[in-house]
Amino acid sequence: MKMDKEKLKKINEETQLIHKEYVVQIADRVIGRVVDFINQTMYKEIGKTMSFSWADRPYFRAYAHCETPERHHVVISYGLAIELYRDAFVLSKLAHVHFCEPKYAGIFGKLSADREGVLPPGANEHQCKMLMFETTLEWVFFHELAHLAQGHLEIREQRAPTGSVGRVEEMLADGSEPLQGVAALISHVTEIAADVEGFTTYIQYRYLATRGKIPYAVVYMMVCGLTCLFNRFFGQSGDHFDPVPRGSHPNPAARWELLFQTIYGYFLDARVRGRIPDWEYSQEELIAQLTEASTLANMYWRIRYLEERGDLPSFMRVAKVDSPEVRSYLREIVATLDEVTPDIKRLYIFPIRPSLPVFTSAWRERLREA
Ligand SMILES: [Zn+2]
Repeated sequence: MKMDKEKLKKINEETQLIHKEYVVQIADRVIGRVVDFINQTMYKEIGKTMSFSWADRPYFRAYAHCETPERHHVVISYGLAIELYRDAFVLSKLAHVHFCEPKYAGIFGKLSADREGVLPPGANEHQCKMLMFETTLEWVFFHELAHLAQGHLEIREQRAPTGSVGRVEEMLADGSEPLQGVAALISHVTEIAADVEGFTTYIQYRYLATRGKIPYAVVYMMVCGLTCLFNRFFGQSGDHFDPVPRGSHPNPAARWELLFQTIYGYFLDARVRGRIPDWEYSQEELIAQLTEASTLANMYWRIRYLEERGDLPSFMRVAKVDSPEVRSYLREIVATLDEVTPDIKRLYIFPIRPSLPVFTSAWRERLREA
């Protein structure tokens, strides 16, 4: 199943030609729109302001902090925008020219005239690339907003002071020791909560900004982008699932498993049904479509960064609840999330209820199995 080395080399060479100033210009416009939206709607109502600045760094960085209780600030590095664009560029290309080969048949549903390769119907390679880039960048901003809105700074500071006072940092490139013990656990729990809150506010932003038009390809490419992002934040991952929370971010497969339920739950919600025609599907269909998008991104990730180590199915199955290690990990995460939920509700800055992962009693029951 090895990818033709020459083909990948050629695509990688093309990424060297990406015009960085052009990417940053688009990114700046995308984020400017988000910041304006937040200030004119959500923050205006509660008397706060949001500001943003770029960090002139070539590596991946994003963080949120409060300058004062009323003035919030988010920082994203140029390196992050450029890497997101590179992922969007190569993934869309591979989906167009590589994953449509017969050996991948069965993974990506039926190929049809309105699809370029295995890309979602209704958008061409260029449009898919731009959608993936823009939606992921927007989502990063809403994820940072979620950390601020749910009081994660205070929660981390109270329960597990790490010294990085007053900041939620997505990725530290300073070579400091990975988080351990309760600090890692609290970090994982707040990341999972920020994913859910981030998605919920993000999709509302998209809905309002486009007057209710959320095309199929938007969510599909967003899922591709998020899957890449989760892989990136986790760093080098293996096929083995570590039941003990370590480092700042959860295993990407676990993160996806938890967010995935929120995404399809959203489209099935009675208040959303009928308002987003492109995503009017049954639960089974939604699961199949979202899984397909996430699989595409994991296949891309494996080819590009993991030199195709390990077989894909085990890489993908790594966070399913039928594994005892995963259940053990999730038991700890769910118990801690339940414990910090009253604090999140108390600290939440908006006059509505925060969005948090919803676990069915059947699912909780399942976790109790050893
Ligand atoms: Zn985060």
